[in-house]
Amino acid sequence: MISVREALNTILNNTIPLSAEIIPLEASLGRVLQEEIAADRDFPPFDRVTMDGIAIGHEFFKKGQRAFTVEGRHMAGSPTVSLKSLNNCLEVMTGATIPTGTDTVIRYEDVRIDNDIATIQIEEVNPLQNVHRQGTDRKASDLLIKPGTLITASEIGVMATVGKSEVRVTALPKIAIISTGDELVNVDQQPAPHQIRKSNVYTIQSALNTYCCQAELFHIADNKEATVNEIGVISETFDVLILSGGVSKGKADYVPDALEELGFKKLLHRIKQRPGKPFWFGSKPESNKVVFAFPGNPVSTFLCYQKYFKPWMRKSLGLPSQKAISARLSEDFYFKPELTYFLQIETSSDPSTAQLLAKPIEGHGSGDLANLLFTDAFLELPDDRSEFKAGEIFPVINFK
Ligand code: AMP
Ligand code: MG
Repeated sequence: MISVREALNTILNNTIPLSAEIIPLEASLGRVLQEEIAADRDFPPFDRVTMDGIAIGHEFFKKGQRAFTVEGRHMAGSPTVSLKSLNNCLEVMTGATIPTGTDTVIRYEDVRIDNDIATIQIEEVNPLQNVHRQGTDRKASDLLIKPGTLITASEIGVMATVGKSEVRVTALPKIAIISTGDELVNVDQQPAPHQIRKSNVYTIQSALNTYCCQAELFHIADNKEATVNEIGVISETFDVLILSGGVSKGKADYVPDALEELGFKKLLHRIKQRPGKPFWFGSKPESNKVVFAFPGNPVSTFLCYQKYFKPWMRKSLGLPSQKAISARLSEDFYFKPELTYFLQIETSSDPSTAQLLAKPIEGHGSGDLANLLFTDAFLELPDDRSEFKAGEIFPVINFK
């Protein structure tokens, strides 16, 4: 058996190359950018009024002038205008250009306007106030967004501003999610007393939405020949196979042998961890295909997805690895076997230290999927000891 660290290294050394594709901006949320986004103009592109009010030349205020004749109104979206007489003012609206001859905006709240005379009501007015100067945020041709950035709402806003109606992003791998097991029925079926409904495939399928991946679902019965044949057919059209079940030592666990028969190279099988010990991972490097074969117990599948699949997926897509977070155990915890234990926890913020606190909510083992409802993370407890003290800090895998 290999350690959790070795397993993760092996998996991260076997990412698959993904091409790029060009998609509409509106469809790019959650995708990974594969081009540089530069400013096409200065940010802002002109000296921009930031408050509704009047625009004046500050030198007249400085000389003591408080009443300014209003020459007219200058609205957002109108080409720049000029003051006719420099000691007058113009009413200006947020988003308009600052009129030529003016350099300062006093908001309506600080002005009284009667019969086209605006009288300033305050004594402190600074030059350039309420003016967002051209190019103060970014200059034309500045690099704004680097390749390898996850596109969120803020990237979309910036890309829209620079006129990117289409963007180049990492293409998504084709993913098949395959359940195995004769005891499983579909979500819309009534299970017999000896059966259960499938859950893992739906959990994984929905988790993959984070990456905008729409995986297809398959099911294979506990039969060696069917396992070989069906995985063989599925692997012809998909880049990534995520299997659940059939990788342990049971007499109906055909998945590892079937995969090897089909020419997949076993890169790891069994990790010194709980849950998820029987996890099998392999690849066909010549055709850039990988297989994650998770043990069927729902918490095992879920943990393996979070701990191994997610970092693999991020790296394949060209994203940096996720920020490491850790939490402080809230109470003593004991775990005897020499395995890395992924303890289910509920995290909260410790009000006195502002640190993350980990409250163990252990549940009843890897079949207890309902326990995941009351937890939001796993705490990774190392395999070299069995006692873990309140106050000690360990890595966290956050899933909510
Ligand atoms: P296995 O890894 O095939 O030995 O399965 C271990 C346990 O996980 C068994 O109790 C299975 O019924 C259960 N299991 C396997 N696949 C799924 C699935 N897709 N959804 C829910 N439970 C499953
Ligand atoms: Mg099974």
